[in-house]
Amino acid sequence: MSTIFQKIINKEIPADILYEDDLCLAFRDVAPQAPTHFLMIPKKEVLNVAALEDGDKDLAGHMLLMIRDVAKKLGLENGYRVVANCGQEGGQSVDHLHFHVLGGRNMKWPPG
Ligand code: AMP
Repeated sequence: MSTIFQKIINKEIPADILYEDDLCLAFRDVAPQAPTHFLMIPKKEVLNVAALEDGDKDLAGHMLLMIRDVAKKLGLENGYRVVANCGQEGGQSVDHLHFHVLGGRNMKWPPG
């Protein structure tokens, strides 16, 4: 079944898109948990980090580099947090791989 993120990729529902290329898409989280909160997702259907395959090496690396670039563009020069919730115990609610990028405030550790 098509996830909400697949609908965003297909432009069937709107999103505040920050970056897009052939491999990935970055858009602002609809329920931000920090002054800046965006998601980086692959256009390819991948469930989560655990479902990445060895052949996804370039895709996974590319997403991290594009996170670096978008974070820089948004002025997160004081730092930020990159989080991927994976599976039920990881707190994943949307079944399409996504990296949360949170910044603009001091983060706490450990997360809940
Ligand atoms: P997770 O709980 O790690 O699976 O994160 C899913 C994230 O997707 C949450 O932070 C939601 O706020 C976010 N989200 C859900 N629907 C949308 C949407 N239509 N546009 C942007 N972000 C969304």
